[in-house]
Amino acid sequence: MKNNILKIGSDKITEVESTLRDAKISGKILYIADPYVDSLYGHIVRPQIAAVGKMKDQLVNYNTIAYAMEVAERVIATDIDCIVAMGGGKTLDVGKYSAFISKRPFLSIPTTISHDGIVSPIAVLKRQDNKPKSLGCTMPSMIILDTRLVASCPPQLIKAGIGDTISNYMALKDWDFAVSRGKDEMNGYAYMMSRTSLDAIMKTQFDHICPEFIEVLANSLVLSGIAMDYAGSSRPVSGSEHLFSHALDYFCEKQNLHGFNVAFGTVAVLKLIDQDYSEVLKYLKKFNVDINPEHMEIPEDTFVYCMQHAIEMRSNRYTYLHEADLNEGKLRKIYKELLEEL
Ligand SMILES: [Zn+2]
Repeated sequence: MKNNILKIGSDKITEVESTLRDAKISGKILYIADPYVDSLYGHIVRPQIAAVGKMKDQLVNYNTIAYAMEVAERVIATDIDCIVAMGGGKTLDVGKYSAFISKRPFLSIPTTISHDGIVSPIAVLKRQDNKPKSLGCTMPSMIILDTRLVASCPPQLIKAGIGDTISNYMALKDWDFAVSRGKDEMNGYAYMMSRTSLDAIMKTQFDHICPEFIEVLANSLVLSGIAMDYAGSSRPVSGSEHLFSHALDYFCEKQNLHGFNVAFGTVAVLKLIDQDYSEVLKYLKKFNVDINPEHMEIPEDTFVYCMQHAIEMRSNRYTYLHEADLNEGKLRKIYKELLEEL
């Protein structure tokens, strides 16, 4: 079941059939896709699946836990042998989680790269109250990421992917800090993978979004996902900036893309703990990743509240925020300065 087939590059979308064959997939295959993505690329993918097995399909309009369980039930009840999902994070997470529950092989075909969840052992699905919940599951056994296809998605989604990779910068600092305080253990291999993922984009020769850069970014995001899988938790890629972003998920009216929230959190926490963030900022500006809180519609009060309550978002993740001075006046001053700097 663990095939670990990974294909990243231009025109890889034409390799769905050969990938399924290489993985010895046959029988019934459930194809699930975002309706819009299916209207764009379904004509390329569907015949390839149908050439390998008996294709069933389902268009995905929801990303609730209940819905993913429903898909899993369909897979189990009707003896489906493999799941193929194509789309953005929502569709892929439904596929990933239903494959995990039904214990089926899973081919993931991301059409956007807005976060490192595209290839991770975590699915983010919505609870009944519409709040997101991170659920542990298994990595996709097969991944096809067509960089040419991803290049045609809205640039904001790619910029969000840059933001999520940049957040490794803060996450690794938090991990070091937690270890120094005896609050967590180090996993050197996972640490190195996350660091390499970060370095790959921070040190890239490209200074604008082009297909070659997308390949670098895609590799980075995949490597972050593998780091999570190897560590057995999101620790290598998720620290205080992610806690802050989870607080925004709950308490900010305007829902921004995850990658922008964590990039903003990275800069804000670095500023809060008096550490240099010029390198991060320079990089984000180079790619026009706009994380100005005013543009993101994050009001000052929400910023203060989310910073002060971030550590309540998960109990087992020790970060700089646990010891930082979260005085209201200080946070308000930081917010105002960030309005100018970002
Ligand atoms: Zn993230």
